[in-house]
Amino acid sequence: MAIATKIQSCIEGSSWIRRMFEEGGRLREKFGADNVYDFTLGNPDVDPPEKFYTELRAIANSPERGIHRYMSNAGYEESRASVAAMLSSSSGLPVSAGQIVMTCGASGALNVVLKTILNPGEEVIILTPHFVEYRFYIDNHGGVPHEVWTDRTTFQLDIPAIEMAISEKTRAIIINTPNNPTGVIYPAESLAELGQMIERRERELGRQIYLISDEPYARISYDGLTVPNIFRYVTNSLIVTSHSKDLALPGERIGYIAANPLMTHVDLFMEGAIFCNRTLGFVNAPALMQRLVSKLQNESVDVESYRQKRDLLYGTLTSLGYHMVKPDGAFYLFPKSPVPDDVAFVRAAQKHNLLIVPGAGFGAPGFFRIAYCVDIKMIERSLPAWKALAVETGLVGV
Ligand code: PLP
Repeated sequence: MAIATKIQSCIEGSSWIRRMFEEGGRLREKFGADNVYDFTLGNPDVDPPEKFYTELRAIANSPERGIHRYMSNAGYEESRASVAAMLSSSSGLPVSAGQIVMTCGASGALNVVLKTILNPGEEVIILTPHFVEYRFYIDNHGGVPHEVWTDRTTFQLDIPAIEMAISEKTRAIIINTPNNPTGVIYPAESLAELGQMIERRERELGRQIYLISDEPYARISYDGLTVPNIFRYVTNSLIVTSHSKDLALPGERIGYIAANPLMTHVDLFMEGAIFCNRTLGFVNAPALMQRLVSKLQNESVDVESYRQKRDLLYGTLTSLGYHMVKPDGAFYLFPKSPVPDDVAFVRAAQKHNLLIVPGAGFGAPGFFRIAYCVDIKMIERSLPAWKALAVETGLVGV
């Protein structure tokens, strides 16, 4: 075998989104791009805010000497301070630049955190439905994912179930809010209850358990809701995030890790994270992007356009009989599959040139995911296909 057995089996087992993407290419060639409705990828279709381009031009027009050189592995002081100031104001705690590491996106941040904290065989609790990459990131660093379902009707935290899953092997819990794939935001009361439960279990087990809050969609929320700052509710907490979604910069790979200033052994954690950012081969986050995002901490993409897309799809699909939780944020819908086999449903959708991802890809068979970060005109063109699919799968009478 030419590559590692484990990687070979990972490639075979994890390729849902890629398979759908390839299928999209085939369908587009056959039917024309306008007649294929691709809802598979979480790749923002909006542009970064105007201020991003203004700042980019300002740097390009008067480049300072040395701006492309290596720097501290944690990132520029100016960028870390800017993130820290924003988090101090949302948490009410004195977050300082020393508690921030600039990273290559939230993916880089998660890998750095997991490498820093995991001993071989230690468990990380992940909440189903979950972002599929968590399993691979945990495995990258010798950890073992321990899946716990969220509430199956609301997709909110099931705190007793998380409590039951915590053992002397548990090192961390990952939450993701607003959530990919369900779109839910965990309210403050729920985070407070989670924090109390974790602290109780830490005392009982005599070990530190990290709550990792993965928040790349934090500024994409609707209906006046906001994402509560986790530092207020959980002491041993870390935020991992990026500007892939809120500033629509996924290709630029810029994000950060922030540690709660009250976390036990916070300085040791920071030393470890800076070391791991270096030795995982990231070395430091992209220099130009660090400079830019330090000026954009209070900016975001046009969230209103995402809300319109959510409302159009949610309204139409529920009126056709599809069942789903109305998303509070992010840009995904996670409806129940009208037939028990979600993969069969996805295949049926394909016949109508609708490309979606089965819930099985998120550890949640029986559901499917729609990524609506697409052109609204494509959503409008897709509506007859959704109706035909609903008729075919018995949701509405002919
Ligand atoms: N976490 C979640 C829940 C995501 O949906 C994504 C990307 O889709 C990421 C992390 C990684 O984002 P990035 O590495 O681009 O910041």
